[in-house]
Amino acid sequence: MAPSDNFAQTLKLQADIVRIVGDYVSLKKAGAQNFSGLCPFHKEKTPSFSVHATRQFFHCFGCGASGDVFAFVQKIENITFPEAVRSVAQRLNIQLRKPEAARAREYLKARELSDEAVGKFRLGFAPDSGFLLRDYLRAKFSDDLLKLSGLFSWKDEPNDGDAQQRLAMYSKFRSRITFPITNEQ
Ligand code: ZN
Repeated sequence: MAPSDNFAQTLKLQADIVRIVGDYVSLKKAGAQNFSGLCPFHKEKTPSFSVHATRQFFHCFGCGASGDVFAFVQKIENITFPEAVRSVAQRLNIQLRKPEAARAREYLKARELSDEAVGKFRLGFAPDSGFLLRDYLRAKFSDDLLKLSGLFSWKDEPNDGDAQQRLAMYSKFRSRITFPITNEQ
């Protein structure tokens, strides 16, 4: 089954074509948003192959090869489009068909939590309930720490029939999650 177009689009926004192409081609900065190198698709001695960081597009002025990150991977690996999508996803360590997880990961990054901290907390994505993540983390960490994490909206609520304050925390990881723009495109 082919990956959905939606997923491919989401992935494309997160993949950095300069980095992916850079795995195959030695690129040099040739302008504010331009990188150039020797075209991998035809023999040449002076670089006519360029990659545009903002447009997330490659183009060779020598042989005319051009396209987006998937077209590049597809062409250079001689694989199908779905295989290229899969390959890019794997490189980004994004599980295929779980764009929500990818968005959650980006969200965490946007909150400037380091990968290390994310790994340490083993954060995932609570797809439906705003409480799954909270309950999971609460079993391991103090409420104070969770409050500090910035991952939750929270407020003190009176507990039923109890004078004690109960901390109500709502994961921000729900439909309210925003899809961050990770490049200028
Ligand atoms: Zn070329």
